Amino acid sequence: MMNTPESRVPLIAGNWKMHKTIAEATALAQAVRDGISNPPPAEVVLAPPFTALAAVAQVLSGSPIQLAAQNTFWERHGAYTGEISPQMLVDAGCQYVIIGHSERRQYFGETNDTVNRKITAALSAGLKPIVCIGETLKEREARETLGRISNQIQEGLAGLTAGQVERLVMAYEPVWAIGTGRTATPQQAQEVHAFIRQLLQDHFGAQVAGSLRLLYGGSVTPDNIRELIGEPDIDGALVGGASLKADSFLCLAALGQR
Ligand code: PEP
Repeated sequence: MMNTPESRVPLIAGNWKMHKTIAEATALAQAVRDGISNPPPAEVVLAPPFTALAAVAQVLSGSPIQLAAQNTFWERHGAYTGEISPQMLVDAGCQYVIIGHSERRQYFGETNDTVNRKITAALSAGLKPIVCIGETLKEREARETLGRISNQIQEGLAGLTAGQVERLVMAYEPVWAIGTGRTATPQQAQEVHAFIRQLLQDHFGAQVAGSLRLLYGGSVTPDNIRELIGEPDIDGALVGGASLKADSFLCLAALGQR
C-alpha cells in the first residue's frame, strides 16, 4: 500500500447520542473549543443531537473542530415525516455524518442496504460519512466476525466508486464493546482493522485502502487510547461515553495522535 500510517491524520470523533439540551450542548462545545490546542493534535469532530446542530455550529465557527450529525435520510426533501436530509445537515453546518451506527441497526432496523443509500446521498450533498461496522458478541463467539465485517463492507459499499470510498471514514465498532466498558484489546482491534484495509484494497485499490481512515469505537477512554492508536491500522476513535465531558474528551483529543 502506498500510504503509511503516519500519512493518515488521526481523527477523534465524539458521538453525544441522545444526550444534551441545546444549552448543555453549547456549553460542552464551547469547553472543547476553548480547551483544544491550536492547531489540534488530531482532527476533532463533535456529533451532537439534531436539535443542537445549528447552535454547536455557531460555537465551532472559525475553530478547527468539525461538526457531524448522527444520522441522515437518503432523500433530498419530500413527504418523509421525521426525517432529515443530507442537504439539511449541510445547511445546519455539518461536514460529517455518522452512518450505520450499531444502535441504528439494532433499534431502528437499519440494514446494509439503507446504509448504502445513506452513504451515496451524503456524499452527493458534500458530507463526509463516518460509516460504522462491527460484529455482535454472538457473532464473535461463533467466529463469524470477519464474515460479518466482509458482508457489511460488500453490501454497505456496493456500487460505490473508488473516488467515493476515498471520501469515507470507517469506524470498526464491535457491538459488545459499545457502552459496556469492555474495550477490544489492541490486538483484537488491529486484526479486524487490517482485515478491513485488505478488503478495501481488494475492492477499491491500494490508494484508497492506504489513505482511508479507520477509527476504532467501543469504550475508548483516556486510559486505553494510546495503546489502540499505537496499532498501525487504527487511525483514531469514535467515542461515546467519554465524549460527554470536556475534560475526558480533550484528554482523548490530546492523546489521539500517533
Ligand atoms: C459509540 O457510541 O460509537 C461508542 C463507541 O460508545 P462508547 O464509547 O460509549 O462505547
